[in-house]
Amino acid sequence: MMDTKLAFYGGTKEVQAPFNWPVFDQREVDAVAEVVRSGQWGNPDCGDLVARCEAEFAAYCGTQYAVSCVNGSVSLRLALIACGVKPGDEVIVPPYTFIATASTVIECNCVPIFVDIDPETYNLDPTRIEAAITDRTKAIIPVHFGGQACDMDAIMDIAQRHNLRVIEDAAHGHGAEYKGRKLGSIGDAGSFSFQSSKNLTSGEGGMVVTNDKELYLMMRSLRNVGRIEEGQWYEHYNPGCNYRITQMQAALLSKQLEKLEEQTQTRNNNGLLLNLLLADINGISPLTRGHGETLHGYHIYIFKYDPIFFGNTPKNQFVEMLAAEGVPCFKGYPEPLYKQPLFQNKNFMCYAIPEEVDYTQVECPEAEKACYQDAVWILQSGMLGTSDDIASFAKAIVKIQLALTA
Ligand SMILES: *Cc1c(COP(=O)(O)O)cnc(C)c1O
Repeated sequence: MMDTKLAFYGGTKEVQAPFNWPVFDQREVDAVAEVVRSGQWGNPDCGDLVARCEAEFAAYCGTQYAVSCVNGSVSLRLALIACGVKPGDEVIVPPYTFIATASTVIECNCVPIFVDIDPETYNLDPTRIEAAITDRTKAIIPVHFGGQACDMDAIMDIAQRHNLRVIEDAAHGHGAEYKGRKLGSIGDAGSFSFQSSKNLTSGEGGMVVTNDKELYLMMRSLRNVGRIEEGQWYEHYNPGCNYRITQMQAALLSKQLEKLEEQTQTRNNNGLLLNLLLADINGISPLTRGHGETLHGYHIYIFKYDPIFFGNTPKNQFVEMLAAEGVPCFKGYPEPLYKQPLFQNKNFMCYAIPEEVDYTQVECPEAEKACYQDAVWILQSGMLGTSDDIASFAKAIVKIQLALTA
């Protein structure tokens, strides 16, 4: 007989699995130990294991080139600068994403222009992009939110017609696909993060993939204090920094990459299963599929929560109850990016953002609804569970619903 007392109030947890992340075995341990023993921890630009790891990641994504760097924020910045953005240029970004998607635009002295999301997917809504394009627009940064592909056909079509660069923020999108193509490989450049929570991790790290040789060479130079391939060690041609990763990170990444495809398939299949199971619960609506994502990475599995069907319990309290039941979940972003103090107070410090820019007037109703009302996140570690684990997530939600509406 199921214990109906909520774990939040001291009852038995519905979900027992621990959901560890990262997932690793002796192969990762050995690979890093070998680097340590070799004494080759870093190298001038940056060592053979880094080069090997970049080649492996480029091949995995189906691109010609990859440039590693210290994290997935710097990778966005390298891509933006290499794309040739100039101070005052505008870059279209979604408001429902991690701050780096927009703050790296500020770091390039450019202006993030927020375009609302599609409530079906929480991805940049292509039907709203053209209204935001001006003669200063230089680039679009679509974020494959939660690992679900953006509508890349529509976005690439708009970019081509308006002569804009497209930098995919694929920090949630490792291994996931749009119409059979790996995310990150479709735009001018694709940016990845290997921060510890991401679907592929080396603790910290980042990578940009591209098929554009000019972008590739410039990003390599910017990553390596402005050096160029044919230059001397103390010759610096471009305004870069030292953004290189270590050989330990590269060794770890290579081993983790071997696990990514199977993990992505598991998450994708678990997501399809959870969609089916949650479809039967009143007040719970998963984001929709069928927008070209042939493989969904589920860095985050997202469903919308309607408190009416849960005794008017506020979302944040529901999420606390769900977490207490053992579901690895989170309440998501508290507000859209333009509501952050950075933008509301224009704390742009040394960055040269035009005076007239004003984020207090920005409104993206769909992103606001996602933050303030609807969105509940289940984290990717949970999506690596067994089908029984996934079924237990649905049971936990039903258990809470019964308790709150009894
Ligand atoms: C994590 C993340 C980044 C930044 O990556 P870091 O490695 O943490 O700098 C950029 N964009 C999105 C959408 C992210 O989730």
